[in-house]
Amino acid sequence: MISVKGLQKNFGKHEVLKGIDIDIQPGEVVAIVGPSGCGKSTFLRCLNLLEKPSGGRILYHDVDLVSAPPKQTNQVLLGMGMVFQQFNLFPHKTVLDNIMLAPVKVQGVGKQEAEQKAMELLKTVGLEDKRDAYPNQLSGGQQQRIAIARSLALQPEVMLFDEPTSALDPEMVGEVLDVMKKLAADGMTMLVVTHEMGFAREAADRVIFIDGGVIVEDSAPEEFFAHPKNKRLQDFLSKML
Ligand code: ADP
Ligand code: MG
Repeated sequence: MISVKGLQKNFGKHEVLKGIDIDIQPGEVVAIVGPSGCGKSTFLRCLNLLEKPSGGRILYHDVDLVSAPPKQTNQVLLGMGMVFQQFNLFPHKTVLDNIMLAPVKVQGVGKQEAEQKAMELLKTVGLEDKRDAYPNQLSGGQQQRIAIARSLALQPEVMLFDEPTSALDPEMVGEVLDVMKKLAADGMTMLVVTHEMGFAREAADRVIFIDGGVIVEDSAPEEFFAHPKNKRLQDFLSKML
C-alpha cells in the first residue's frame, strides 16, 4: 500500500531521517518505537507531507509523494488519516459538529449523510451519548476517541497515530487502545508510534525500531520482544520493561 525507499529528512544541518526503507501492506498494523527524538514523528509527518521530505521516495497509489506535484499528492493524501498526541478538537463545536465538519466542508458530503455517518462512528468509539457535548465536557480519553472518530469520518484507508495515548492519564489509556484494537481487527492499515509495548505486542503485525535515522529492527512482535537483535533495541527494551 505504501512503499518507502531511502526517505531522508533534514532540519537544516540536522539529519533526522537518513534513509528509511519500509513497505506497508494493506491491512497491516505497524508499531513504531524508539527513543525520544529519534525521528518517529518526523517519519509519520513525512508520510503525509506535514513535513517536506528531503530525499527518497514514498510510493502511494502509484504516486511518489516526494516528487509529485501538490495537485496529485493532495488527491491521494485524502486516503490517510492522522491522530495526534493532542486531540485538537474544535472547542466551540459539539462532538457531532467536530466529526461532521470535514466531510461536509472538504468532501461536500450532504449534512444528513454526514450526520448518519458521524453517529455510526460515535457508536464505534462508544460515545453515542456525547453527540451534543462540547470537548471541555469530556475526559481526555473521550476526547481522543472523538478525535479518532473525526479522522475516520473522512474514510481513510490508512491511519497514522502519533503517540495517541501519551497525553492521557493512565486510567484512560485502555479505552483509546481498545478503539484502536477494534480498528486493527476490522482490517484498517495502521502505523502507530507508541510507548505502549502491550499494544505493540498484541495488536501489531510488525514492530519497527528507529535508531540513528534508520530502521534497525523490523520484525514480528514475538521476535521483536523476545529476541531483539539490535544492541540499542536491547537496551531500550530493558529500560522499558
Ligand atoms: P520523536 O517523535 O521520535 O520523539 P521527532 O521526530 O519529533 O522525534 O524529532 C526528531 C528530531 O528532529 C529531534 O531532534 C527534533 O528536535 C528535530 N525536529 C523535529 N521537528 C523539527 C522542526 N520542525 N524543526 C527543527 N527540528 C525539528
Ligand atoms: Mg514524537
